[in-house]
Amino acid sequence: MNLCNLTTVRELLERYGLAPQKGFGQNFLINPDVPARIAGSSAMGRDCGWGGADSSAPDGVCALEIGPGIGAMTRELSAIFEKVLAVEIDRGLIPLLGETLEDCENVRVINEDFMKLSVKDLLSESFGDSPVRICANLPYYITSPIIMAILEAYAPSERPQVESVTVLVQNEVADRLCAEAGSNEYGSITASVNLCGTARKLFTVPAGCFYPAPKVTSAVVQITLYKGGVREAFPDLPEDDGELDKLIGLAKRLISAGFAQRRKTLTNALSSVCPKESIVQALEHLGIRTDIRGEKLSAADFVAIAKFLRRKE
Ligand code: SAM
Repeated sequence: MNLCNLTTVRELLERYGLAPQKGFGQNFLINPDVPARIAGSSAMGRDCGWGGADSSAPDGVCALEIGPGIGAMTRELSAIFEKVLAVEIDRGLIPLLGETLEDCENVRVINEDFMKLSVKDLLSESFGDSPVRICANLPYYITSPIIMAILEAYAPSERPQVESVTVLVQNEVADRLCAEAGSNEYGSITASVNLCGTARKLFTVPAGCFYPAPKVTSAVVQITLYKGGVREAFPDLPEDDGELDKLIGLAKRLISAGFAQRRKTLTNALSSVCPKESIVQALEHLGIRTDIRGEKLSAADFVAIAKFLRRKE
């Protein structure tokens, strides 16, 4: 059964008394090359190009899919990963998935709201300590919270079980996730993602590849998490895990404050987190202009400011 054929999708949904639910962000993929390329790119750790179905994941690597829908991408993942767990919020889709994934013995589907789960517990209970790659055609109403829930599941000092997150999102969100500091697209989500990994836009997906078609173009982004945790990405971080977690916690608060009031200078914006004199000292010590705006600073700059402030405390 071709799960990306529009007639098949409609027929399946109708047979189970279902219709695409806007409230759950349901836009099903109806171009089979797209789920194959997402799954293949996840397996390869880079864009595998069209024809990704031939890719295979390294031995022992497992996959988590958020929102399998009718199972088109789940089948691709099943063919190339050791084990697959799919989390679907819509109870109505569970019996349908029982039919479309009947022959996929390495797939387990659970009926849960992903946002109510502990990502860390879910993955260790399902896959032991095997590395995990996450894939999804994300429901657009909840894209950023899902990405942040995955990235924040692990303390900065930990080695995350998740190796990468390969997701289909609105093109505009993809640009924000992958933006350079100082560009128009750069925002707090970019800096927050960069505390945990690096994001790359792999390819765009036109609206006509979905049923129903969304109003906007979409794109696939791959976030590769720092394998060894945050220490791998930034120099001279504390060896003590507790201190490191506090330092990165402070960097996160500085990022939120730095982007919350975009019209304020950095010194004024960050003074909601620490005394203004300390912020001025930190910026001067690091050679950062005190009248600069938050959106000019990279994640590494925020980490450096947090490092200075923690040493002073
Ligand atoms: N993967 C399918 C595809 O590509 O055709 C469906 C993608 S559709 C954009 C999003 C899917 O996520 C839907 O199946 C929807 O029911 C599911 N979903 C929405 N919110 C969810 C949540 N909080 N937890 C788990 N699944 C969710």
